[in-house]
Amino acid sequence: MRQKRAKAYKRVMALYVGTFGFRTPYQILLGDDFLVEAAKQKDVDWWKMLGTTVQGEVKPMITQCCIEALYRKGKEFQHVVDMAKRAERRKCNHREAVAPGDCLKDMVGETNKHRYVLAVQSQPLITNLSRAPGLPVMHYNARGVLVLSPPSTATIRAKNAAEEGRRTEGTKLLEGIKDGANVVGASEPQEGRRRKVQGPNPLSVKKKKVVEEEGKKRKVEEEEEVGEEDEGRRKKKRKRGRGKGAVATAIAEINAAGGIGMGAAEEGSESD
Ligand SMILES: [Zn+2]
Repeated sequence: MRQKRAKAYKRVMALYVGTFGFRTPYQILLGDDFLVEAAKQKDVDWWKMLGTTVQGEVKPMITQCCIEALYRKGKEFQHVVDMAKRAERRKCNHREAVAPGDCLKDMVGETNKHRYVLAVQSQPLITNLSRAPGLPVMHYNARGVLVLSPPSTATIRAKNAAEEGRRTEGTKLLEGIKDGANVVGASEPQEGRRRKVQGPNPLSVKKKKVVEEEGKKRKVEEEEEVGEEDEGRRKKKRKRGRGKGAVATAIAEINAAGGIGMGAAEEGSESD
């Protein structure tokens, strides 16, 4: 199987695993018509291909009604019966054998609660059963290649609904919780908050503090850069570039604030 297709199939199966609870070994429900088709593929190991197609371990199964249908085909189909016998027999509780299609419909039911992967050829049956969400289907295409169908509309709809459900649940969990309430210690600082409010106008205080702190920080940075500057011209250039922008502004601010010595910073921007 080509890499691209293998990847696509893996993604498709991941959907069934993630949303519908599928687990390996995947239970492959074999239709009688599927086995007839599989018997025609002489040069491929059909049994192995089942696992390759769903990209995982498989447990092929066949119902009493489906194997009955193969017996009724007569001697020519004995080799297909033999193929079917490799699969595990799945009880369908049809005392009298019913048409294979009807049997498989009963097995899948409304919701495919036993999480079967259906392997059938009958297109009307596939269409009919695609109303059940979470039913992977594989069949042989016209060229005899075993293909896994893309997820049905019902499947996609159920997946979206499940995701939507999870989202709403998440939103509900957050109801009534204030932003920041999940921060460590957030339940204590009511006192701290009150204290803050009691202090002087935070705007005026903050502004000065920021300018001073930034000034100090910049000064330290400048000193470090001047030290490095001796090593080469490139650094000097970079620094000069900055000096004309942010550094110059900072210096002007420091001067305006009543002057912390400019020292190295000034030296730096004037050199060269
Ligand atoms: Zn049956």
